[in-house]
Amino acid sequence: MTPRSPETAPGTRAMTDYLIRGTAANGELRFFGAFTPETVEFARKAHELSPIATAALGRLLTAGAMMGAMMKNEDDLLTLKIDCDGPIKGLTVTADSLGHVKGYVKNPAVDLPSKKPGKLNVGDALDLGVLSVIRDTGLKEPYVGQTILQTGEIAEDLTYYFATSEQTPSSVALGVLLNTDGTVKTAGGFIFQVMPECTEETLQTLEKRLSGFTSVTESLSSGKCVEDVVSMLLTGLSPEIQDRMPVSFTCGCSREKTAAMIESLPVDELTSMIDEGHEIEVVCHFCNKKYVFPVAELEAMKARKSTS
Ligand code: ZN
Repeated sequence: MTPRSPETAPGTRAMTDYLIRGTAANGELRFFGAFTPETVEFARKAHELSPIATAALGRLLTAGAMMGAMMKNEDDLLTLKIDCDGPIKGLTVTADSLGHVKGYVKNPAVDLPSKKPGKLNVGDALDLGVLSVIRDTGLKEPYVGQTILQTGEIAEDLTYYFATSEQTPSSVALGVLLNTDGTVKTAGGFIFQVMPECTEETLQTLEKRLSGFTSVTESLSSGKCVEDVVSMLLTGLSPEIQDRMPVSFTCGCSREKTAAMIESLPVDELTSMIDEGHEIEVVCHFCNKKYVFPVAELEAMKARKSTS
C-alpha cells in the first residue's frame, strides 16, 4: 500500500481509494471492483470502531461505493441499512454515484470471540436481521428492496438480495483485513453480475473461476490490485474496464448546516435549551464530528426567530 496521507480532519476525503466498473463477454457480464483501505480506516478512526465493527462497516461501505456507482445520476442516493438482533445492533451506509460513502454502526464497541482463527466473527455480530436497500433517484417515492439476512457476513446477504429482490444473479465478495494493532491493512471488494443475455457457457466459466477465488484480502494484501484480480477472474472473457473513480469517506455535514437545523426548531425548544444554561453539542451520526453551540449563540438564534 502507498504511504498514508497526513492526518485529515473528519469529513474530508482520503485520496488513494478507487473503484472500477466494466463489462465482459460482450456485455453478458458486468463487474465492479473497489479498493477501500483509506475509506475503512477513516471510518474506524472517526467512530472508534472495534475490530469486528471495522470489518462489518468496512464491508458495507465497500459494497455501498460499488452499488452507488450502479446509479445513473449525480444526485441519486443509495442507502444500505441493516437492522439486526446481534450485538452490533445495526449499520447504515449511504453512497452517491461518484464514490462518496459514509456510514456508522449502532454499537461501535461490539466484541465477540472468533470462531475461526484469524477470522472476525461478523456473522454473529449481526445475527438475524433485515437488509434494506433504498435508492433515492429524485422520484416521489424512493425504491426500497428488503431481504432477510442469510449469514450476516454481508457479502452473502447482498448476493442473496440481488438474486431475490433485483432478479440479477450476482456474486459479491467483500473483505477487510486488519493489522495486529487494529488499523486497516487492506480492504476491497468485487461484484460480478450476470446480464439477461448471458449464455450458459459464459456463466459456467464465471462460476468456475469464482469457485476457485479464495479471498479478497488475500489477493489485495499479496500486492495484486483490483484490476489484476478482475483480469485473473475474467481471463478469456475479454473484460473491459469502462470507468475508474476515486472512493472516499465523505460527509457533507458542517457547522452552518447544523446551526440552520437548530435554528429551525420551534421557539419553545430553543427556549428550553437556553434555560438549561449550558452549551449544546450536536454529533453527526455519519462522521461523528461534534458541533458545539454556546448559550449565547442559541440566544442569538432565538432573537432572530422572534424578529423574523
Ligand atoms: Zn458528518
